[in-house]
Amino acid sequence: MTKVNVIQPGTIEAPPGDIPFLLLPERNTFQARASRLRALAEGHALADYLRFLAALARAQHESLSLFRRVLLPEAQELERCREHGMPPLGTRGWVRDPVWREALRGILTELEAGTLPEAGRATAARLKDTDDASLERVAETLLAGDYDETLDRAAIPFIGAALQAYWLHLVTTLGAGAFGRLETPHLCPACGSAPMVSVVSVGASDHGLRYLTCPLCSMQWHAVRIKCVFCDTTKGIAYYGIEGGSAAVKAESCEACQGYLKILYMENDPNMDALADDVASIALDVLMADSGITRRGTNFFLF
Ligand code: FE
Ligand code: FE
Repeated sequence: MTKVNVIQPGTIEAPPGDIPFLLLPERNTFQARASRLRALAEGHALADYLRFLAALARAQHESLSLFRRVLLPEAQELERCREHGMPPLGTRGWVRDPVWREALRGILTELEAGTLPEAGRATAARLKDTDDASLERVAETLLAGDYDETLDRAAIPFIGAALQAYWLHLVTTLGAGAFGRLETPHLCPACGSAPMVSVVSVGASDHGLRYLTCPLCSMQWHAVRIKCVFCDTTKGIAYYGIEGGSAAVKAESCEACQGYLKILYMENDPNMDALADDVASIALDVLMADSGITRRGTNFFLF
């Protein structure tokens, strides 16, 4: 029995003249994610983890109210970034407002009040007692993508969640008009992160278009289909799915760079949430790992 079957790609879309380049996330992203995670948890092998992530997403949504006076980039700086194709809220360049740590503490308090699994409870208690400088160091390492042994893995979902809330606040406050196209088109135009997954939209103006999704700020930006977003080739692109599994989630692999990025087809399931459905389809990652193709998408909740 073959575990993975190749699906024939469709035709390459004709480049449309006037398509939305950016899809700004909604302010209720975390709320919607929590509902999706709860729905996905039903009968799922990872039910407990998905329910934990749902509680985390709910706490993220609550934490948005903590961002009252948050420093934003100046109009001049935004203009300069648009001119030079740079992300104004870059994970390496942008100086984080300490308020993100308030969000972290808010999220931890919210979770502790609910039903947190034993291991999570211990990590949450430890993080609450961690000094600011140490928290900044973990954030720095996580945002730089340095996932070495020194990174506290148990802390990643919590720290990642607080940073996501902070960055979502920034992009939703600034609006899509603040950001331009980057010199490096596969990175997030707002924060410069590498994509988590790509999503094929359903909608009036963006139907059938492919967007890359940011693991940090939840921004989505347009990318041509059936083309490797990392090395730009259109040759040797293949699509893998689990036999008998969902038709809505596939792995788009590139022969040239031996990597893959998941692609979510909203047409097959309009209720999908990029992050939630990425975690819930971990079985596909396990099969891809068996075939020796490396995952390229970043997701703070898949460690
Ligand atoms: Fe981003
Ligand atoms: Fe490639």
